[in-house]
Order: sequence, then C-alpha cells, then structure tokens
Amino acid sequence: MRIESIQTRVILAVEDNEANRMLIQAVLERLGHVVLLAGSASEAISRIEHRRPDLILMDIQLPGQDGLALTRRLKADPEFAPIPVVAITAHAMASDRQDCLDAGCAGYIAKPFNTRTLGAQIQEFLQPAS
Ligand code: MN
Repeated sequence: MRIESIQTRVILAVEDNEANRMLIQAVLERLGHVVLLAGSASEAISRIEHRRPDLILMDIQLPGQDGLALTRRLKADPEFAPIPVVAITAHAMASDRQDCLDAGCAGYIAKPFNTRTLGAQIQEFLQPAS
C-alpha cells in the first residue's frame, strides 16, 4: 500500500552511525521522501551544495565538527539559513535541548527514535510545498 498523505520532500540526514543512517533512509524513503545522507559536517556541506534539502536531520554527536557547530554555520549563511534543521540526539536533558534551539534548530527528536513515528515527527517541521 502506498502512503499518499505525505508530500515527497528532500531530506538530508547527517549521522555518523551507518546503521542509523540506513534506518533513517529506509523509514523516510518508505514514506516517499528523497533521502540524502552524510556522515560528517564536511560531507553535509557538499551534499547541500549539490542539492538543496527541504529539511536537515542533524545528529549532534559527529566526529570533527559537531552537529551544533554545523547548524550554527548553516544558520549564519543566508543561502542555507531558511532550511529547517531538526536535531537528533541521545542527549535528553533540557539544557541539551536548549543548546539545539540556541544553535538554530527548529526542533529536537530524541534518540533512539521511533521508526513508526519518525515520519510524522519530521512532517511538522517541513514547510508546506509551494
Ligand atoms: Mn553520532
């Protein structure tokens, strides 16, 4: 059965854990989204420059430049600042959540994420297609 209720969008998942990357890809592609993947901040930048995503799912803990630093970098760039960034992190403390918002994230999804609800969780952060 095809799920028709969700508009197809381009989503970049920045996540250094390959198993998590594959899980996110499987869940979102099943919903009809186009999924771009990056394992690091530098990979994320080259993906974004190649194809602009409608939304970025951002793992906070990355090797090298972390997800908060990458989010700040994107939000400082007028070209990329409008793309909503949703943090995905195992950190569950309120202060960590505030760090994500302060860096410019539109929201926060706790890890481990629920594969049944991930699609609905990101939907609220996708701007309506014009
Ligand atoms: Mn990570």
